[in-house]
Amino acid sequence: MNAIPQEVTVPHFVGGGRIVTTAKPVPQPGAGQLLIEVKANALCGSERGQFRDGTPVTPGHEAAGVVAAAGPGATTRVGTPGAIFLMDFCGECRSCALGHTNQCLAKRGDMGFNRDGGYGVYELVHESLFFPTPSDVTPTEATLLLDIMGTGGHAIRRASLVHKDIQSVLIPGAGPIGLGLLAMVKLMLGKDIPVVLSDVVPYRLELAEKMGGLPVLATEMSLAEGMKRHGLELPDVVFDAAGQERVRDESMALLAHRGVLVSVAHGGGLTIKNLYADFVFREMTLIGSEYFSYNELPGNLELLRAHRDYLNQIITHRFGVGEIQHAFELFFEGNTGKVIIEQ
Ligand SMILES: [Zn+2]
Ligand SMILES: [Zn+2]
Repeated sequence: MNAIPQEVTVPHFVGGGRIVTTAKPVPQPGAGQLLIEVKANALCGSERGQFRDGTPVTPGHEAAGVVAAAGPGATTRVGTPGAIFLMDFCGECRSCALGHTNQCLAKRGDMGFNRDGGYGVYELVHESLFFPTPSDVTPTEATLLLDIMGTGGHAIRRASLVHKDIQSVLIPGAGPIGLGLLAMVKLMLGKDIPVVLSDVVPYRLELAEKMGGLPVLATEMSLAEGMKRHGLELPDVVFDAAGQERVRDESMALLAHRGVLVSVAHGGGLTIKNLYADFVFREMTLIGSEYFSYNELPGNLELLRAHRDYLNQIITHRFGVGEIQHAFELFFEGNTGKVIIEQ
């Protein structure tokens, strides 16, 4: 472990799609806190606003690294590798008491959004957010535990609460979240369950197909036509990873009896007015799904270790932090899976 410097150079998102560098002091871990030396952080579509508008915070919320220093009362050993949970949950409120740490009612912050995140050299976290990982999992692989496996797996668990025999799945949006959902459906519900993915970007659909998905090019056909093309009629579950009102409406109208629409993507809206009679008659369910709970990490870690090669296909590009500007431009052009900044 290198000596910890007093100050480091970190990326600064100044707005207008420009990332420069700035110097920031390295914080000292206080009581119950850890200073993490970040080794990998995945780019995310939810950073589009920070890239466009700029932010004084150092972004990055899909980080993994090693413990560089521990504050008073923190028991994790220096050198321990692990991943960082996005939400700085309180651990004591009604939601946290039940394990719903993604629904904390007294959240202290969101790492990388209103607290300095993982594109910096070091990240200061409460120990409760740090999820230790075994040494055979690389930091880059450990980032898969977050928005890819975590968010995907949580959405599937949400759907499974009301649907016990999911036999077909439709995923509008084959970006990283859609690909994560695809992988987790295959790993959690069974590899033979047909999963149709639609997107406007052929690159993403090729990746989805390599991972066992059934592709639909949205510029060429409707979701209904796409389902038929793959010999399917009505999906039991739609996981919305596109975030567009039109796509949500189209998905909702397609649902089978007892069908579930799980909204994972933010943005857009939904109109069920014209569908309302069907909504009741077919006993549809509409579910929101936001990130995941900390306590889902151990199970997902076991899946990651058992299906490492399959899941690693989602990571298509890796760059050093000096190339972060290029990495973001490439990522937002759409012809990538997950893009990782490694340090
Ligand atoms: Zn993310
Ligand atoms: Zn809480």
